[in-house]
Amino acid sequence: MNKLDAQRQKEIQQAEELLFAGPQALGFAKGLFQGHFVADWVMPYPRIREAEKAELDHTLAELRKFLNADLDPAEIDRQADIPRTVIDGLGRIGVLGMTAPKEYGGRGFSQMANCMVLEEIGRRCASTSVFVNAHHSIGIRALLLFGTREQKQKWLPKLVTGEQLGAFALTEKEAGSDAANVQMQARPSEDGLHFILNGEKRYITNAAIARELTVMARTPVPGSNKTAVTAFLVTPDMPGFEMLEARMPKTGIKGTATGRFALRDVKVPKENILGPIGKGLKVALTVLDFGRTTFGACCTGAAKTCLELAVAHANSRRQFNKTLGEFELVKKKIARIAADAYAMEAMTTITASFIDRGLEDYMLETAMLKVFTTERLWECINDVFQIYGGSAYFTDLPLERMLRDARINQIGEGANEVLTSFIALVGMRGPGMEFKEIYDTMMKPSRDGMSKAWAAGKNRLSATVRAPGVPVQSEQLRAHARQLGRLIRHFNFAVNRALITYREPILDMQLVQERIANAAMDLFASTCVLSRIDGEIQFTGRNGNAASPDHSAADLFLRQSFRRIRGFLAGLTDNDDKAVIAVAKSCLTSETAKPAS
Ligand SMILES: Cc1cc2nc3c(=O)[nH]c(=O)nc-3n(C[C@H](O)[C@H](O)[C@H](O)COP(=O)(O)OP(=O)(O)OC[C@H]3O[C@@H](n4cnc5c(N)ncnc54)[C@H](O)[C@@H]3O)c2cc1C
Repeated sequence: MNKLDAQRQKEIQQAEELLFAGPQALGFAKGLFQGHFVADWVMPYPRIREAEKAELDHTLAELRKFLNADLDPAEIDRQADIPRTVIDGLGRIGVLGMTAPKEYGGRGFSQMANCMVLEEIGRRCASTSVFVNAHHSIGIRALLLFGTREQKQKWLPKLVTGEQLGAFALTEKEAGSDAANVQMQARPSEDGLHFILNGEKRYITNAAIARELTVMARTPVPGSNKTAVTAFLVTPDMPGFEMLEARMPKTGIKGTATGRFALRDVKVPKENILGPIGKGLKVALTVLDFGRTTFGACCTGAAKTCLELAVAHANSRRQFNKTLGEFELVKKKIARIAADAYAMEAMTTITASFIDRGLEDYMLETAMLKVFTTERLWECINDVFQIYGGSAYFTDLPLERMLRDARINQIGEGANEVLTSFIALVGMRGPGMEFKEIYDTMMKPSRDGMSKAWAAGKNRLSATVRAPGVPVQSEQLRAHARQLGRLIRHFNFAVNRALITYREPILDMQLVQERIANAAMDLFASTCVLSRIDGEIQFTGRNGNAASPDHSAADLFLRQSFRRIRGFLAGLTDNDDKAVIAVAKSCLTSETAKPAS
């Protein structure tokens, strides 16, 4: 086996281990790739449980009051630090243990409620929302999800109040996007009571201020010469823990402490292992599902701030004897921000509800939420920046900070390119397997194979002849629902065609994958928007409210999203991919590209 084949084998094995172990549940996103509309995942639009509503409203009111009085995002950016008073305040309100069970001192809130809290913080200060995410969404998440009762009793009470802080340490020099390539080693001690950890981690939010770090390291797989990743609970007072750089200077979210540390023969008791030995990557990905949901919430909050800022300036600034808002090219930007903010909230709420309902396997949806909301937010900030013109460039306004802060979103917790490829490949796996069944049987007919291939063929065919039903309640949404159903059928047809045309090489064809993933993301976003409008109309009707809420921004989102989907699918057959690849190849191999000797 040559080196390339061996690498591909390793990647396939890791992907299988991470994603495809066990039976596959047909979630919403996977359903789209099969031409189905898995309605019960997304309809009716989820609402906060009555039992939690009053407590959540009270918490949100308290939080808003605190943030308005005590949070100064500009000062946090200038000082490159979040003051302890802010951390203590957030701890007092319960934000730092929002979803932790009450028995350990947490607030026991749902993920939907938690997202509303994060949206509120994301509206004001990205440093603070990233800090909260690093601590609560990912830092203590492995402990919450995989910790034993003893571990939780020991660690959680101080972490959920913010008396102690948490961090999540996966990234290393050789393990960035290639997260499975963790090099930090953990070998068992001779007495079998400890693991000895060695290696370095970098770019870790909260590393220098955390008392509990969830650290990923490689442990030996018994009976083989292989290793697998395991999650450990590490504390900075363990001998051999060395903080190499507490606060790496950076572009944005300057208030967060992003650090680099080394573990040199650090003895970690085996009681500090989180989750099963050798299943650390699964632990990490499950943790990131939560992080990506709150990412969506923070982006939603920031997008709403963009809208407020855009409207305020467009109404007050006059040029050519008109307010800026009177110009169509400014109107266009404002309308798009309003449409996107509506969609981002809907998508966040629905994705969070998957976690609350304990549904199985929503990794695709959380990846879609992360990519979609971070890309849309970047557009929103760029648009509002443009509306403010030269004034946006100066530090007395929040826009240059917002721009710097937002840039990390497309990189952190999985670079958007990596997630985009992941969405397409995992999504296509279901129909791909059915085609493989058919193909294998044609090549080597057998009785058993024929019946499986027949079932697979029927499934593929029925999804392409019929558009799935999209069951909205409100009469006025039926046309949109029918259009969405037709687009899902069109999408399924395009996925099938891509699989048949390209077969295995599609695994490396990222330009094709990107269009498929983008179409899938817009289908999911449109579904969430439709579900949310439907829910709002029904709710208003049930409460005898005559005035229907204004859904013009939501309606615009659907129109624009449907148009984008058609564009992505058309691009599968009408594109410049060959030329793109050729130009890049020429640049990458030209003499000027070679490093000077
Ligand atoms: C401010 C900040 C805070 C962070 N906090 C944490 C934390 O708390 N915990 C933690 O563990 N990590 C953290 N990270 C690390 C973060 O998750 C990584 O930076 C991210 O996963 C990307 O890894 P990388 O930087 O090594 O980029 P690389 O892996 O070198 O990738 C660089 C670029 O190459 C492209 N690329 C890479 N792979 C592919 C591919 N397969 N297909 C197409 N394009 C590709 C992408 O455009 C990507 O942006 C943080 C990073 C920053 C900057």
